[in-house]
Amino acid sequence: MWRARRSRDRRTVVCIACGDSVLREDAREYDKEGDRWNRRDKEFEYLCTDCDDEICHQPRDGLESLILSIESDGLTREEFLGRYADAVAAGESTRRSERDR
Ligand SMILES: [Zn+2]
Repeated sequence: MWRARRSRDRRTVVCIACGDSVLREDAREYDKEGDRWNRRDKEFEYLCTDCDDEICHQPRDGLESLILSIESDGLTREEFLGRYADAVAAGESTRRSERDR
């Protein structure tokens, strides 16, 4: 019963991956530092559950540097996402071949 007030949170947040607005209570918090338990002085970004399901299996290592390496001024969202997908795919095949060695 004490949790009933939680359902009063009808604010919406925007998923950083697909741009959809979702209810705050339905969104997953996304902390780019990978430490969502340390809440001090932080602002969280949010993902809808669909996008969260898609990303949570991806390795985090190097994600920030990967994004920085493909980010540049004047990129459209589509171009950025295309570069990102290419970079992730390239990274995965690199890791796979290293493991097979
Ligand atoms: Zn989303």
